[in-house]
Order: sequence, then C-alpha cells, then structure tokens
Amino acid sequence: PPEATPSGSSGNSAYGSGVGVELLCVVKAVLKKIKRRVLVGDRVVVGSIDWVDRRGWIENVFQRKTEIVDPPVANVDHLLVLFSMEQPKLEPFLLTRFLVEAESTGIPLTLALNKAELADEEALVTWKSRLRSWGYEPIFCSVESKLGLDTLAFSLRDQTTVIVGPSGVGKSSLINALRSDYHPRDVAAEDNWFEPILGSKWFEDQRVGEVSARSGRGKHTTRNVSLLPVAGGGYLADTPGFNQPSLLKVTKQSLAEAFPEFRRVLKASDSANCAFSNCLHVGEPGCVLDGNMFERYPYYFQLLDEIKIREEFQ
Ligand code: GDP
Repeated sequence: PPEATPSGSSGNSAYGSGVGVELLCVVKAVLKKIKRRVLVGDRVVVGSIDWVDRRGWIENVFQRKTEIVDPPVANVDHLLVLFSMEQPKLEPFLLTRFLVEAESTGIPLTLALNKAELADEEALVTWKSRLRSWGYEPIFCSVESKLGLDTLAFSLRDQTTVIVGPSGVGKSSLINALRSDYHPRDVAAEDNWFEPILGSKWFEDQRVGEVSARSGRGKHTTRNVSLLPVAGGGYLADTPGFNQPSLLKVTKQSLAEAFPEFRRVLKASDSANCAFSNCLHVGEPGCVLDGNMFERYPYYFQLLDEIKIREEFQ
C-alpha cells in the first residue's frame, strides 16, 4: 500500500492541474471488509482499468493529508473563512470563534469579507487594519458587485478549498459565482481526454452513500458534497463547511496556538517559552505574554473559560 500522499501537483495530472481522465470506479470488496472508507478528495490507487468503458476498481486509499468532517472531504488544503461586512454585520467575537475553529484544523486559511459594497470606505479601512493586527490579511469581496472575486479565485488556485462561515454571509452565492466563472472548455482544449467532472453523475451517486454512512444522519438531512474544478487547477467543495464552530478539537493548551497574536509573541520572544510548559497565559509568573496584550485577549480569555468548563464535564 502507498505510504504517502503524492507530493505536489506534478506527476498527478488528474489532481494537480484540474484535468485528467474520468473513470467510473467502485471500491473493491477487500477495502470495504477492512472498513477503509473512500471520501471525496481522496487520492486512490485504481486498478483493473477498462479503458473502453472507462471503469476501474479502487484498490487502495493514499494516506490523507487532512480530513474534515463537515463536509466530509479528504485532503482539503485550504479553508476560506467567509464573513460579511453587513447583513449580517461583521461581529468580532463570532469571527474569532470561526478563525479559532479553522486554525485548529491546521489547514491554511484565507479570510474574506463579503457584501463589501454595503459597507462604507471608512469601515473597510478600519477593519482592514484591525484584522491585520489580528494577523490576517482580509480579501474584501462582493458577489453582488463582483468586487474582489478575481483575487478570491486566485487564492483558490492549485488547492482543494472548503468555504466556511455563518449563515447568510453569501457562501452559497460565492460558490455559485465561482462555479459560473469556470470555463471548462478553456482547460479542455489542452487535453482531449478531459471531460468536466462538474455535474458528473458519478459524484451524485457516490456522495449520498458516503455521507450518510459517515454522518449516520437520515438521507433527507444528508449533506452532499462534490468538488468543482477551479480554472487553473485545484478544487472547490460545492457545499459550505461548518457554520457553527463547536471548538471541540480545541483544548486549553492548544487554544493559544489558534491566535496568530500569540504565535507572534512566542516567536519574537528571546526566551521563546514561558516559564511553565503548561502556561495558559493568564498571568502566570514567567509568561512571555507579560506586557504584550492584544485586542483579542479578552476573547481568548472567554474561549478559555468555555473550554475549561467543557473539559471539566468531559
Ligand atoms: P450562505 O447562508 O452563507 O450560503 O448565504 P447565501 O449565499 O444564501 O446568501 C445569503 C443572502 O445574501 C442572499 O440573499 C444573497 O443574495 C445575499 N448576498 C450574497 N452575496 C451578497 C453580496 O455580495 N452583497 C449583497 N448585498 N448580498 C449578497
């Protein structure tokens, strides 16, 4: 069995460039027997290929770089955290919760603020410098006016991206906008084998069984997911990710790592570490944070309390 994910995009044209041969595959019984699930986004070993009918059998699943549960996608390497400037209004604590949840996955993220056309210039400038001080470089966009969509599309290139954010900020609208901006024929011209995966029946069939088996939810509540090829390479999940951060993977000890402000202080500090290895940065002696307060520290404190309570009851 393969031990590692194929590195980079080269040598794997089907994945890296967004073009390739489309095969209708079934999972070999032996994989099912050992309960080896195949998720959307998995790199797999396909054998016994029938090139005439373009069919194959999935014989093995490469080790996953990442796996997210909501939506169930393997090898996601980019999260797009989407909020809106207005309707609903950008709310710093809620944004922090999402950023912490996204950071806790270890997957690189981009922060985008939609509905920018509803905000005045002053609000955009203020938020930009505020978010910079948090450690993020936001992309302002508007699905409505198309502002910033090119920059966003560029940030998706060569990556498998899932969009996350609260309800109503425009996640589905953005996915649709990027979907309609995609011109598969431009890419197909370079490769005769290519047929757009977009809307493929294979995905429709695959995703229902896969998701319901994993989530254990009824079929009517199942969240389907498929990956849309992005022009220039990479994929975008057609289903938004979590819209309520549970923070269940965040522990008391790991919370600080989810704040770029803490990471910056720790990196800049000569001693690099606090006096106590289990320091929670809440006033312990020898804490490197001492005197290095930042705007979101009260949010850190609040989330830490919440996590402490959860851990006590676990
Ligand atoms: P989701 O819940 O995050 O998927 O949000 P939706 O995509 O369903 O969008 C919620 C509402 O916001 C819809 O009425 C959209 O038409 C609207 N919307 C999306 N993008 C924009 C935008 O850039 N500007 C404005 N003014 N409205 C938008």
